[in-house]
Amino acid sequence: MGEIIYKTLIRLGIFLLVLWFLKNYFDEKYFLIISLFVIYFFIFHPAYLNYKKFTEESKNILTGTLCSSCKHFDESAILCTKYDKHPTENYIPCEGNDWEPK
Ligand code: SF4
Repeated sequence: MGEIIYKTLIRLGIFLLVLWFLKNYFDEKYFLIISLFVIYFFIFHPAYLNYKKFTEESKNILTGTLCSSCKHFDESAILCTKYDKHPTENYIPCEGNDWEPK
Protein backbone atom coordinates (compact mmCIF):
# COMPACT_ATOMS: atom_id res chain seq x y z
CA MET A 1 0.00 0.00 0.00
CA GLY A 2 2.84 2.35 0.86
CA GLU A 3 4.39 1.60 -2.52
CA ILE A 4 1.20 2.73 -4.27
CA ILE A 5 1.17 6.01 -2.36
CA TYR A 6 4.89 6.52 -2.94
CA LYS A 7 4.63 5.94 -6.70
CA THR A 8 1.54 8.15 -6.91
CA LEU A 9 3.36 11.00 -5.17
CA ILE A 10 6.34 10.59 -7.51
CA ARG A 11 4.03 10.66 -10.55
CA LEU A 12 2.18 13.66 -9.12
CA GLY A 13 5.45 15.56 -8.67
CA ILE A 14 6.68 14.73 -12.18
CA PHE A 15 3.42 15.62 -13.93
CA LEU A 16 2.96 18.84 -11.95
CA LEU A 17 6.42 19.89 -13.09
CA VAL A 18 5.59 18.95 -16.68
CA LEU A 19 2.32 20.90 -16.48
CA TRP A 20 4.15 23.86 -14.97
CA PHE A 21 6.55 23.98 -17.92
CA LEU A 22 3.76 23.47 -20.47
CA LYS A 23 1.43 26.12 -19.10
CA ASN A 24 2.75 28.82 -21.45
CA TYR A 25 2.09 26.68 -24.53
CA PHE A 26 -1.66 26.42 -24.03
CA ASP A 27 -4.49 28.87 -23.74
CA GLU A 28 -5.77 29.11 -20.14
CA LYS A 29 -9.14 27.51 -20.83
CA TYR A 30 -7.50 24.52 -22.54
CA PHE A 31 -4.82 24.28 -19.91
CA LEU A 32 -7.38 23.55 -17.19
CA ILE A 33 -8.91 20.75 -19.28
CA ILE A 34 -5.49 19.34 -20.15
CA SER A 35 -4.43 19.50 -16.49
CA LEU A 36 -7.54 17.63 -15.34
CA PHE A 37 -7.04 15.07 -18.10
CA VAL A 38 -3.38 14.50 -17.15
CA ILE A 39 -4.12 14.35 -13.41
CA TYR A 40 -6.89 11.81 -13.89
CA PHE A 41 -5.31 9.56 -16.52
CA PHE A 42 -1.68 9.71 -15.40
CA ILE A 43 -2.03 9.99 -11.63
CA PHE A 44 -5.39 8.90 -10.20
CA HIS A 45 -6.31 6.16 -12.66
CA PRO A 46 -2.97 4.28 -12.37
CA ALA A 47 -3.20 4.62 -8.58
CA TYR A 48 -6.71 3.18 -8.65
CA LEU A 49 -5.61 0.27 -10.87
CA ASN A 50 -2.64 -0.46 -8.59
CA TYR A 51 -4.89 -0.34 -5.53
CA LYS A 52 -7.35 -2.72 -7.19
CA LYS A 53 -4.51 -5.12 -8.05
CA PHE A 54 -3.20 -4.87 -4.47
CA THR A 55 -6.60 -5.69 -2.93
CA GLU A 56 -7.04 -8.62 -5.33
CA GLU A 57 -3.63 -10.05 -4.40
CA SER A 58 -4.25 -9.32 -0.72
CA LYS A 59 -7.50 -11.24 -0.80
CA ASN A 60 -5.66 -14.42 -1.75
CA ILE A 61 -3.06 -13.89 0.98
CA LEU A 62 -5.73 -13.12 3.59
CA THR A 63 -7.65 -16.29 2.86
CA GLY A 64 -5.19 -18.86 1.58
CA THR A 65 -1.92 -18.63 3.48
CA LEU A 66 -0.55 -19.88 6.78
CA CYS A 67 0.29 -16.31 7.78
CA SER A 68 -3.35 -15.23 7.70
CA SER A 69 -3.99 -17.29 10.84
CA CYS A 70 -0.80 -16.23 12.67
CA LYS A 71 -0.73 -13.73 15.50
CA HIS A 72 2.29 -11.98 13.97
CA PHE A 73 0.38 -11.14 10.80
CA ASP A 74 -0.85 -7.57 10.27
CA GLU A 75 -3.79 -7.81 7.88
CA SER A 76 -4.00 -4.10 7.14
CA ALA A 77 -0.44 -3.99 5.79
CA ILE A 78 -0.12 -7.64 4.66
CA LEU A 79 2.97 -7.79 6.83
CA CYS A 80 4.67 -10.27 9.12
CA THR A 81 5.43 -8.08 12.12
CA LYS A 82 7.98 -10.55 13.47
CA TYR A 83 10.18 -10.54 10.35
CA ASP A 84 9.03 -7.17 8.97
CA LYS A 85 8.46 -8.77 5.57
CA HIS A 86 5.47 -9.13 3.25
CA PRO A 87 4.31 -12.72 2.84
CA THR A 88 2.92 -13.80 -0.51
CA GLU A 89 1.05 -16.87 -1.67
CA ASN A 90 4.39 -18.54 -2.44
CA TYR A 91 6.59 -16.97 0.21
CA ILE A 92 6.32 -17.33 3.97
CA PRO A 93 9.20 -15.51 5.65
CA CYS A 94 9.58 -17.95 8.57
CA GLU A 95 8.71 -20.99 6.41
CA GLY A 96 6.13 -21.89 9.05
CA ASN A 97 8.61 -22.25 11.94
CA ASP A 98 7.37 -19.26 13.97
CA TRP A 99 3.67 -19.59 13.31
CA GLU A 100 1.53 -18.94 16.38
CA PRO A 101 -2.28 -19.00 16.48
CA LYS A 102 -4.16 -15.73 16.90
S1 SF4 B 1 5.70 -15.58 11.97
FE1 SF4 B 1 5.72 -16.91 10.15
S2 SF4 B 1 3.61 -17.63 9.95
FE2 SF4 B 1 3.58 -15.85 11.32
S3 SF4 B 1 3.14 -14.12 10.01
FE3 SF4 B 1 5.36 -14.25 10.19
S4 SF4 B 1 6.01 -15.49 8.44
FE4 SF4 B 1 3.80 -15.78 8.69
